[in-house]
Amino acid sequence: MPELPEVETVVRYLRPKITGRKILDMSSDTPRLFRVRRSRTSTEMKSDFKKIRKQVIGRKIESLDRIGKNILFNLSGGKCLALHLMMTGKILLNPKERSAHDRLVIKLSGGVQLVFNDPRKFGRCRILEGGKVFPGQDALSLRFRGLKSLLGTRKSAIKNFLLDQRAVSGIGNIYSDEILWEAGVRPLRKTNSLREKDIKNLYRAMKRVLALAIKNGGTSMRDYRKPDGKEGGYYQLRKAHHRAGEKCSRDGATIRRIKIGARSAHYCPKHQV
Ligand SMILES: [Zn+2]
Repeated sequence: MPELPEVETVVRYLRPKITGRKILDMSSDTPRLFRVRRSRTSTEMKSDFKKIRKQVIGRKIESLDRIGKNILFNLSGGKCLALHLMMTGKILLNPKERSAHDRLVIKLSGGVQLVFNDPRKFGRCRILEGGKVFPGQDALSLRFRGLKSLLGTRKSAIKNFLLDQRAVSGIGNIYSDEILWEAGVRPLRKTNSLREKDIKNLYRAMKRVLALAIKNGGTSMRDYRKPDGKEGGYYQLRKAHHRAGEKCSRDGATIRRIKIGARSAHYCPKHQV
């Protein structure tokens, strides 16, 4: 699943290539991508495709942002189109070939095409109404004080805290393992057991791991590709995630894998305490 570094890589790649371009057309044969609740009280879904299409055609992309794992296309007239890649989604810029898993094609001025490809159809595209705030604080812009106060509001295993998008947004299974390895903190440590020193290490590790992953174009384990179709390079650099049975590069101990609910965590039993 794409996490913050993958989404940030997509945004940084696309920003200079699509900012200032006008949306000429938008086509999709996947109504599910534009699902919204039928009413505030209902759990029934309907598709907003036609409405969204009408609202974005003719508008200019003024800027491109990211919050957590959401890509935000800020359009002229104050509209904002938000796209979440979810499990298997990827955005391709002018792909040479088309695939049966292409779910959305956006034609831009200057002969540029954005294609959203998503084998499992979990992705989500919607218009954000003005002032809509996402829950959680973005992991890249989060400050030390912010992390400390968020930790104070929870009593859960630190791994689950990092995965909770309503607390820190943008971190998933790969980077939570990597951040905890770097910080020297065990995944099952309770958030309320962390001392000032642990929180400092965690904060530094978060910034370091995310920066290194972004620099390397993210992680391509399964579906994720950069918009030019190439793989990200972080997978080879990872220290703990999916390395169970291998030697820890810091101290030579054997990396372990444990289950935490439906997820798994990978950690070094020696230097992570
Ligand atoms: Zn170790």
